[in-house]
Amino acid sequence: MKKRNKKRINKKNCLVLILSIVVISGLGLLFYNLFKLNLSYEGEVTISYGEAYKINDAIKKVKNGDIVSDNIDVDTSKLGSQEIPVLIKDKFGKTHEVKIKVNVVDEEGPVIHGVKDSIEVVEGSNVDLLSGISAQDNSLEEIEVKVEGDYDTSKPGEYTIIYKASDSSGNETSKESKLVVKEKKIDYYAAPSAPVMPDKTFTTCKGFSGVTKNGVTYIDGYLVANKTYSLPSSYNPGGLTSETRDAADKMFAAAIADGMPNMWAQSGFRSFSTQSSLYNNYVARDGKAAADTYSARPGHSEHQTGLAFDVCVTGYACISSGFNGTAPANWLSKNAYKYGFILRYPSGKSNETGYMYESWHFRYVGTDLASKLYNNGDWITMESYFGITSEYNY
Ligand SMILES: [Zn+2]
Repeated sequence: MKKRNKKRINKKNCLVLILSIVVISGLGLLFYNLFKLNLSYEGEVTISYGEAYKINDAIKKVKNGDIVSDNIDVDTSKLGSQEIPVLIKDKFGKTHEVKIKVNVVDEEGPVIHGVKDSIEVVEGSNVDLLSGISAQDNSLEEIEVKVEGDYDTSKPGEYTIIYKASDSSGNETSKESKLVVKEKKIDYYAAPSAPVMPDKTFTTCKGFSGVTKNGVTYIDGYLVANKTYSLPSSYNPGGLTSETRDAADKMFAAAIADGMPNMWAQSGFRSFSTQSSLYNNYVARDGKAAADTYSARPGHSEHQTGLAFDVCVTGYACISSGFNGTAPANWLSKNAYKYGFILRYPSGKSNETGYMYESWHFRYVGTDLASKLYNNGDWITMESYFGITSEYNY
């Protein structure tokens, strides 16, 4: 019996003990849980460049503790990541450090300035599409602007162009614009009409007698048209003169007989108005100064006399410097005088004639004068021979 009782008491004590332990530890646990630091935070935050952000904003919940470090403003003026510690003191006096990784990123594309709705250019002109265009980025990085688009400033039309700027974070901004390539208008140069030469008689410095009648000048009986001596707009022989035509036919036949390829007068007579549009086109293309070196102003072209023409030869460059020095050019230079023609604008004599070397331009003067000017192959110019100038005086 006793034994049994003892056993029961032992059992009872044991139960009490276990119960006490459970209760005490339960209370301890409860106490601990009531006062334990309960913290939740964002270990890594991403902030836009320049955005205001206080570090404690990364701490989502603090129970049974206090943030003891300063609530600093995160420096978002620098791109990249940084680690900022936050100190928290719990109820038991222990300090905990949590590290917040802050990534400062640039999510904003650059701003492009200066893009116009449309740009107008004249075909063939050089245009700097980036002129006046700049880009700015929030991160103050240096931003380059590119212009893209399938455009051709040499062809009139409307093209879409896109300005693009990207920063080092890969944010791209684009702005569209329109490029309008306008047709180049032949801007007719208002060439001053050649002043009509007043009637007069004169003697050149080489002693030749000259006469100007009805605006047409003859020196020693030879019609002269150059930069000094003009022709009135009404002067129109209606084509190459018959003498010129006949002499040219003989010369071309002789050339063929001499083994030259076929040659012909490509450009013969040109009226005042034809010369006017020709010259004005050249001015529009190359400018007046350049045009004056190779094209005559209306009223000053020898082609208006009906006595001059430009030769073209089968298989050779036609009316261009590519003809200079070729076999047919040499043949013409050596033989033209026999048929009454002069090489009107010889090489190296542009200061006398007012024109560059034209191996293709021949002027009919008759064999008499042509033989003199031929000068055994060292062509003398009309200007030098007669003692006259070839200069525009307007
Ligand atoms: Zn010519």
